Amino acid sequence: MHDFWIRVSIPVALSALAALVIWGMFSAAIALVSMLVLLLIVMAYHARQLFKLGEWLKDARPETIPEAGGIWDEVFSQLYKMVKKHNQTKQKLAEELQHMEQATAALPEGVAILNEANRLEWFNPIAQQHFDLDAEHDIMQDITYLVRQPEFVEYIHESPSGKSGLGKPLLMRPLRHADMVLSIRLIPYGGDKRLLITRDITQFERVEAMRRDFVANVSHELRTPLTVVNGFVENLQDMPDLGQDDARRALHLMAEQTRRMENLVADLLTLSRLENDQSPLREETVDMSALLDEIYRDGRLLSGKKHTLQLEMQSKAKLLGNREELLSAFGNLLGNAIRYTPEGGAILLSWSERDGQPVFSVQDSGIGIAPEHIPRLTERFYRVDRSRSRETGGTGLGLAIVKHIAIRHQAKLEISSEEGKGSTFALVFPVRRQMTED
Ligand code: ADP
Repeated sequence: MHDFWIRVSIPVALSALAALVIWGMFSAAIALVSMLVLLLIVMAYHARQLFKLGEWLKDARPETIPEAGGIWDEVFSQLYKMVKKHNQTKQKLAEELQHMEQATAALPEGVAILNEANRLEWFNPIAQQHFDLDAEHDIMQDITYLVRQPEFVEYIHESPSGKSGLGKPLLMRPLRHADMVLSIRLIPYGGDKRLLITRDITQFERVEAMRRDFVANVSHELRTPLTVVNGFVENLQDMPDLGQDDARRALHLMAEQTRRMENLVADLLTLSRLENDQSPLREETVDMSALLDEIYRDGRLLSGKKHTLQLEMQSKAKLLGNREELLSAFGNLLGNAIRYTPEGGAILLSWSERDGQPVFSVQDSGIGIAPEHIPRLTERFYRVDRSRSRETGGTGLGLAIVKHIAIRHQAKLEISSEEGKGSTFALVFPVRRQMTED
């Protein structure tokens, strides 16, 4: 401060000194005029620097700071440091804000900030997707005008700020995405504001529905044979003097039903083992010629000479995979071909190669499948003709098992069929599973 006044006073003091000298040399009037002129020059200099400062402040960038001498040099250099520091802080804040935005954009949940009047102050891209919001026009709009479903409006109004957001979430299907299920929650924060959190639980709901269907299906599948067996047992109890033939017939039918239950339980266990992520695929080089011979022989037994069975080995390649699982998948496909092909039909088993990919296929001249059923065949318990499947000992789980085994081997199950003409089921394995050498 002291230094400042000294430096400001120097030009004035020098002017006064010059005026004194002029007074001594000429007259007081000339000295006074000279001093006035000198002071005017000092003032003009300061006015010019002030003007430069004013101009610079209109767009204060450190690189355009004006240059000056004396006291102004100090002022400008202080300003330079200040603006530079301010810019650094601004950049740091911008980076932090960008990080925050990136983090919220990466969140799997939708997040929106509602003010005390339910107006949208901010939302992330997922919330934008869930509610079909417009990032430009919907800011500061009342959320209940943008999402008008009554249950949503009621939820927003019935969860006033201040109330705990840990209450029951709202489950809702957005109007414009009817196939989506959202779980919505409101969390109060920062005074009167609220965070609106949305989570897409479509997949979770689907799995839940599948689980419920599965339990219902299994119970239904087991109840029918159990009822039959129970009926026979009661009959046998009520009629101890039943004739031998009748008793034998009853026992035969009971054995049939228990076998059905046994098959179902066996298939269920196989499925659950295959679905268990904890049991990775144990791989080995499988000798396909031996494996297909075994399948072929089992097929002939199952068919009981009712069909013409043929095996074509077009490839000598071995396969990298799990022998037991492959046996189960191929056996299921051949079993289906036999069961869904009327007597006298032809079935062709083949092992071949397509663009380096090993292919196992079963072609039959059976009843075929209408196109609308094909995409659903691998669903658990999906059957085109329920009674035909049951009559031939089907559990409705065969193709679900095949699909799982295919997935575990990164193979693709291809189904082509024509109603009344026959079907072809092919398992196409990836090239890397082909083993051409021992
Ligand atoms: P299922 O035990 O009922 O045979 P799958 O899962 O093996 O159960 O097959 C599902 C359904 O696909 C069968 O019920 C049947 O309608 C149809 N299907 C499977 N293979 C064939 C085939 N080769 N020919 C005609 N229909 C078939």
